[in-house]
This record gives sequence, C-alpha cells and structure tokens, in this order.
Amino acid sequence: MTNELWHERAAALKIDGRAFIDGQRKWALSDKQFDNISPIDGRNLGAVARCETADVDLAVASARAAFDDARWAGQAPAARKRVLIRFADLVLKHGAELALLETLDMGKPIKYSQSVDVNSTANCLRWYGEAIDKIYDEIAPTASDSLALITREPVGVVAAIVPWNYPMIMAAWKIAPALAAGNSVILKPSEKSPLTALRLAEIAIEAGIPAGVFNVVPGFGHEAGAALALHMDVDCIGFTGSTKIGKQILQMAGQSNLKRAWTELGGKSANIVCADCPDLDEAVEAAIGSIYFNQGESCNAPSRLFVEASIKDKFLEKALAMMPSFQPADPLDENTVMGAIVDATQLKSVMGYIDAGNAEGAKLLSGGKQVKLDTGGYYVEPTLFDGVSSDMKIAREEIFGPVLSVISFTDIDEAIRLANDTPFGLQAAIWTADLSRAIKTARALRAGTVHVNQYDGDDITVPFGGYKQSGNGRDKSLHAFDKYTELKTTWIRI
Ligand code: NAD
Repeated sequence: MTNELWHERAAALKIDGRAFIDGQRKWALSDKQFDNISPIDGRNLGAVARCETADVDLAVASARAAFDDARWAGQAPAARKRVLIRFADLVLKHGAELALLETLDMGKPIKYSQSVDVNSTANCLRWYGEAIDKIYDEIAPTASDSLALITREPVGVVAAIVPWNYPMIMAAWKIAPALAAGNSVILKPSEKSPLTALRLAEIAIEAGIPAGVFNVVPGFGHEAGAALALHMDVDCIGFTGSTKIGKQILQMAGQSNLKRAWTELGGKSANIVCADCPDLDEAVEAAIGSIYFNQGESCNAPSRLFVEASIKDKFLEKALAMMPSFQPADPLDENTVMGAIVDATQLKSVMGYIDAGNAEGAKLLSGGKQVKLDTGGYYVEPTLFDGVSSDMKIAREEIFGPVLSVISFTDIDEAIRLANDTPFGLQAAIWTADLSRAIKTARALRAGTVHVNQYDGDDITVPFGGYKQSGNGRDKSLHAFDKYTELKTTWIRI
C-alpha cells in the first residue's frame, strides 16, 4: 500500500472505543471515557470506555455463565480448533485494518505492524488451535486393581492483563492457549493501546467464538486491572507488564481468592560479544537491530552490551555506521524502521534516563536527543552510550526506549558476573566461536532464554519468560497450557 493510502485510511478511521462484554459493544456503566491519543502526531483518535469494578463484574459474570453452560468448554477440541483457525484466518483478512490501528495506537512502523504483529498474532491463534486436538491425557502406572486417569481441564475464568508494546501479540500469547484449552477470557488491554484488542473481540465472534467467552474491558490499571486481579470469581490471571505491577498482581491474587497468577515482567538483557565472535558484522547488526527494534520498547531488548575490550573500538565503529538507518520517521511510511515512543510520559522517562547517563559520566557516542517531526508526536534518536559501568542507572534499570549501554570486559568470567548482576533474567546472548565457552556461558547465565551467536531466535514453539524478577511463568509453546489448565486425577477401582 502507498504511504498516501495509509494516511488517507488513517484520516478516515472511525474508532469504536466501547468495551466488549457478553458479545456486545458497551460503554462503561458509569459512562466514563478516556481520550486515546496517537503518539505518531498527538491526534485524538477518539473516546474509549473507562471500565471500572462494575463493568469488570459484568464481564466476569458473562464469562462465568459461558463457562458454566459449557458453550465453549463443552465443544470437542476439534471444534474449538476449527474456530481458532478461522479466527487466525480472519486476523489476516483484517490485517491492514489491524496494522493501522496498532501503528496509530502505539507508534510502531506500519511495516512491522503488518509483517510482525498481525502475522504473529494469526500464527499464535492458529498454532494453539492446531495443538489442542493433539494433546492426550495420561494413565498413571498404578496397581492392577485400579486405574488413575490424569486429565487436563480448563481453569475456568481467565483474566489477561497486557502491556502496550506489542498489544495484539501479548494478547494472543494469553488468549490463544487459554481459549484453546476451553476457558472463558476477560482481556484488559493497556490504556495506552486498547484498539486492536477491541477489534479482536469482534473478529472472535465472526470466527464463531460464542458470546461471553471472550470479553475485553479497556480502562486503567488501578481500576479495571485491579478489579480483575482482586475478583473473587476469576480463577486465573495472566499478567504481562512491569515488575512493579507484577508484584502487586501477585499480592492481589493472594489477598483475594488465591487465583493462579502468572507474571511475565521486565528485562535488562545482556548481550556478550567475545573477541573470537565468528562474524563481527552479524554480531553488530543483531546488537543494533535488536535494541532499536520497536523503538527499544521490547521486554527482551538487549539493552546491556558487553564487548571484549580488544574488539570494542572496531565493534563501535561498525555500530555507529548503522545508526543513521534507525533515525525515527513517519510510522505510516512503509520505509520507516523506527517509529514513535508510545506517549509523552514514556518519552519523558526515556529522556530522563539519557540525562542520567550523561550525569553519571557515561560517554554519549550517538543520539541522545528528542526528534521533532513536522507532524508532532513523540520521537527519540537511537542512542548509544559507551563507558557505562554496571552500577549506573542506565545499566541497572529497564529504560524501555532506544538506549544502548556498552560495557567492556576482559575475561568471560567477568562478563558472566556482570551480566548476572541484575534483578532481571529474561534473555541473554553470547557470541563466540568456542563451543565449550558458549555452552558454559549459556549454563551460567540466569535468563529464561540464552542465544548463542544470534539474537533473533523466536518461534511460537519455544517458551518465553524470565528468571528472577522477570516473572514466574512462560508464554508460548505447549508449556503455556500448564498455566490455563488444572490437572485432575480420577481413581477408578477395576
Ligand atoms: P505496566 O505494568 O505499567 O502495565 C501493564 C498492564 O497492567 C496494563 O494493562 C496496565 O493498565 C495494567 N496495570 C497497571 N497498574 C495496574 C494495577 N494496579 N492493577 C492491575 N493492572 C494494572 O507495564 P507497561 O508499561 O504497560 O509495559 C511495559 C512493561 O511490560 C515493561 O516492563 C516490559 O518489560 C514488560 N513486558 C514484558 C514482557 C514479557 O513477556 N516478559 C512482554 C512485554 C512487555
């Protein structure tokens, strides 16, 4: 599609910000709304329902009724599979509209909204749809006069609370396995990016998911989000977001009905490049491409780059040559690779970290400034600090913006110690031609995913989640079913 056409479509777009409860669009019972501001140019996209406890009660009641009468859970796995595959097909059919909503809502480049966000969402729905009729229950090896069946059952009513950085994909990682397993779901998208979640609920109905099975309650975290986390009739909560709020979710789950609570939280991932790295160009491209992708607003962004001292100058020379290609530009232009920061608050936070880096004595080699496009909106230059030490704020805290901190090391034990010196443990990488060093380092790194000589390994078939304060669960892969199912043992005398 041409850039003009994307702009025309964006100008003509009419958003529907009403909640989706029991198969119907609804404003909040209080009639409260909030404005949805696009980060790409600051325009008001329209009003969105500000759901609170009463709306959450309604959504939970509708999800509970749908679960209790088994209109979805009671269908054969092969039937749920057909619906989820249709859901995936319809996401692709409505792909251009969903991509436009995603870009206007959170600022990412339209080319990635289409190629990454829409495609990954459809792929996730299809994969869990395909999987669900291939999972068998078990029989335990018990005494010959009895039979013990171990079966999986849906947990019941699942709440999913997701962040704004990959609004559709984060939603799909939760709703696809939860729905495939037969649960009813209430999704609370981020107040910063609620639009695609609301469209997904309509598309789900079009695909054949019965009313009440998939509900969406837009609103603020401390209102709609907390109401879900505290609700006595929600059986399970899947949360993706910051470590700070993740801790609160676990507390709320504990102080209410002890609902199963799964958290996928922040990161400060370490990327270790040794002097014997097999292909320095590839290592530079991966380091730079991965930190600036999605404006650095990725939980697994490799924001701490550890480079062996003897190759640091060469590495940085190549890295700096790549920086101009990541200059932010109009997200609706199909050539743009770096879009807008999600909102004014996040922009201020990122600029605050850049100021802290400068104040603490890190060496700013590139970027560091806000970019003002003619259209307005919130943009930051891709930023690279050298001479960072592990105790600086930019090396310790998750910035969630396009800021890379370079730290040099002289031996691998030092690199491992520094890489693990963080409260987070989401991802890490090691680049070396020495197989034994690669494996020993991968074992020593305290992270849910470790890459060797790459940073882009990603597939729905593998678990995604963190050690330490990066969370307590895993999204993706067949392991995600563990989150949304109960194991039941049935003893039978024979
Ligand atoms: P956030 O924690 O501020 O918000 C996440 C969600 O929680 C939003 O929907 C928000 O409305 C809701 N929320 C906020 N306060 C709440 C409360 N008191 N009770 C219930 N819900 C509440 O995070 P964010 O800024 O939206 O997202 C960025 C964070 O998400 C980063 O830390 C990033 O690393 C993390 N993240 C992690 C993963 C992963 O898989 N580990 C993936 C993407 C993003």
